[in-house]
Amino acid sequence: MPSEVMQPVSCAPETNALPQTKLLINNEWCSSVSGETFATVNPATGEEICRVASAQAEDVERAVQAARAALARGTWRKLNASERGRLLYQLADLIEENAEQLAMLETLDNGKPYHIAKNLDVTKTAACYRYFAGWCDKIHGKTIPIDGSFLCYTRLEPIGVIGQIIPWNYPMLMQAWKLAPALAAGNTVVMKPSELTPLSALRIGELIVEAGFPEGVVNLLPGYGSTAGTAIARHPDIDKVAFTGSTATGRAIQEAAAGSNLKRVSLELGGKSPNIIFADADLDAAVQGAYAGAFSNQGQVCCAGTRVFVERSIYDKFLEKIVARARERVVGDPFDTKTEQGPQIGEAQLHRILGYVEYASVEGATLAYGGRRLARQGYFMEPTIFCDVRNEMRIAQEEIFGPVMCVLPFTDMDAVIEQANDTQFGLAAGAWTRDVARAHSVAAAIRAGTVWINCYNVLVPSAPFGGFKQSGNTRELGEDGLLHYSEVKTVTLKL
Ligand code: NDP
Repeated sequence: MPSEVMQPVSCAPETNALPQTKLLINNEWCSSVSGETFATVNPATGEEICRVASAQAEDVERAVQAARAALARGTWRKLNASERGRLLYQLADLIEENAEQLAMLETLDNGKPYHIAKNLDVTKTAACYRYFAGWCDKIHGKTIPIDGSFLCYTRLEPIGVIGQIIPWNYPMLMQAWKLAPALAAGNTVVMKPSELTPLSALRIGELIVEAGFPEGVVNLLPGYGSTAGTAIARHPDIDKVAFTGSTATGRAIQEAAAGSNLKRVSLELGGKSPNIIFADADLDAAVQGAYAGAFSNQGQVCCAGTRVFVERSIYDKFLEKIVARARERVVGDPFDTKTEQGPQIGEAQLHRILGYVEYASVEGATLAYGGRRLARQGYFMEPTIFCDVRNEMRIAQEEIFGPVMCVLPFTDMDAVIEQANDTQFGLAAGAWTRDVARAHSVAAAIRAGTVWINCYNVLVPSAPFGGFKQSGNTRELGEDGLLHYSEVKTVTLKL
């Protein structure tokens, strides 16, 4: 790989300051009641960065009480809506002021290239808080003309205490996607960041306190899914749980919610998104779109375009170009400015990905490029391309969550739509064509929450994102995302 011969040119900031490593409850940093901690690890080296307090069920209890008390005091729910907005804007400003440190923490803990963490993750995180800050004083109901002598109107009220469980692939951004709309709508929050990547979430916690958010509004509990996560999902005094992660865990959370207090559940789950390239497409743009769609963020993206359907007449040309592009991909030190791909999140995930690679050959797919772990410290692997894949193969049906692209030939539009939809998932899709009518036909026929045409991974705070089928049951971002954090109350007054 090119990375093994390259001289690292570090772009890491001077500071290596770590944030708080405790739990944030009621605006105070505290140890877990049990005193337990866990190690968070740098995936580029496999070495421990530091130890972090590990939240247990008793800590969830304390945090829920703090969030409930904040609701009762009305210090957030009843705060002037414009003041809630001002605090969210203030947080966005602080995030930008601390961009280098936040990006450094994200790279250290998650492994994504520093220049991407800074220019994409931090930028989009600040934009997300700003977008929802603007909504705070624009959340209102309707007046409804009902028969008779009545005044009937609706109010959008906060749901209450929200439990949020976020994953490790975009730690800071997923925190923003969940926190910003919940707070804008007037809720209080108990959040569990992933134990694999707690550091940027904790630094954001420090900035939340610095911005002046009232006590108990945001409580952060790093910890394991089996302890803190389960306690959140089962807690009888949490009004809603919002989760991003695997479909299997989403199912467990929905069962826990049903088995406790029937709390509302928002799930943002896995995907196996099709990216369809027609013969009339701008081929170079499509190659770049397929490449970025499958390999961005080390392939650890829920909406990654991992099933690339290519029209038979351009199949060989596409393969030649995509393999050439993958061959050039710079995998290595995430603090090097030239690096495009850092390490996978950990040993277990890497092992899982390599298991799929091995099985793909058993199933009869052809390895066109990559497939190997890099012979160096940390959890690095080559970008990997399989061709001659059939849609029923496991590598085409199961979420791998690594840099593995499946290329499948097609000849007929109806058949490719049928195959694209032949999956348990329905998160996103891409289509590449110069034919406008065909583009809109594909967009209408695909069963997925997002369809990108002649582009991929365009995610902005104002456009809703979420899954059909087993990819989830909600939308995040945009007005739709905001409404999932509100209850509608109908008020009818006899005149
Ligand atoms: P999980 O879905 O298992 O975990 C996501 C989060 O949920 C983590 O914080 C986890 O904590 C927590 N969690 C786990 N079990 C429970 C539970 N019973 N109740 C409440 N919370 C729980 O994903 P993994 O990190 O294990 O990754 C496995 C696969 O999931 C990936 O290969 C990928 O396919 C998919 N995934 C999808 C993501 C997406 O964006 N859609 C994001 C991350 C993963 P803990 O880590 O301690 O288990």
